Amino acid sequence: MPKALTCVKEGCTFEVQGSTVEDILAKLKMHAMIAHQMPQLPPDLVEKAKADVRDV
Ligand SMILES: [Zn+2]
Repeated sequence: MPKALTCVKEGCTFEVQGSTVEDILAKLKMHAMIAHQMPQLPPDLVEKAKADVRDV
């Protein structure tokens, strides 16, 4: 089932889509690196992201 996640950074409306949570997290990390200059996602944001992933 396809899944989606809105960026966990406050104020950012970027949306990631993928088929698995792992896929979405990988794309979110790429986005965070490019858009937010965050080469590493802090563990608390990763947890928040996992919790926020929804089925679409
Ligand atoms: Zn973002």
